[in-house]
Amino acid sequence: RHSLDRETRPRHGDTAPPELQEKTLVLVKPDAVQRRLVGNVIQRFERRGFKLVAMKLLQADQGLLDKHYQQLRQKPFYPALLAYMTSGPLVAMVWEGYNVVRSTRAMVGDTDSATAAAGTIRGDFSMHVSRNVVHASDSVETAQREIGFWFQQDELVAWESGDQDYTYG
Ligand code: ADP
Repeated sequence: RHSLDRETRPRHGDTAPPELQEKTLVLVKPDAVQRRLVGNVIQRFERRGFKLVAMKLLQADQGLLDKHYQQLRQKPFYPALLAYMTSGPLVAMVWEGYNVVRSTRAMVGDTDSATAAAGTIRGDFSMHVSRNVVHASDSVETAQREIGFWFQQDELVAWESGDQDYTYG
């Protein structure tokens, strides 16, 4: 048996400590898919060191968005938000890592593109609040709920990343 067998054998399951297994939902919204920004957004999360544990391209329907945006359904902009979010396919992803919810919100930037800092996703790629490229969950509790709206439990892949000792101290 070759000595590399052990190294290359897929290792299922995630044995990382719980604080490294925090998860958040990121949506690459329909404007970003149309503008071919999907790879660019993914690259930022990969480069930061987060671990991708689920991803799919889908056309969202109103039922799903009503659940996802239940806090915003009474807002005057909600019909426009619904039209935007159902205008074409979007990419739903779950990213995992230490403080991933807080770090991802910082990487995404302010809701309003005009005040989103340069260097953030919205600050770099978006001109207007109504076309702001990405969604990211705003708390650990919200993330758990939102992941449940967009993914079945068996669509989340637990895997061990080889760079963990180099990503975390
Ligand atoms: P965030 O996405 O930063 O968590 P919110 O939860 O407040 O922000 O709003 C959800 C989404 O609704 C925003 O990302 C944006 O797409 C849209 N939105 C928020 N405010 C407005 C607005 N004033 N006009 C149009 N769309 C808006």
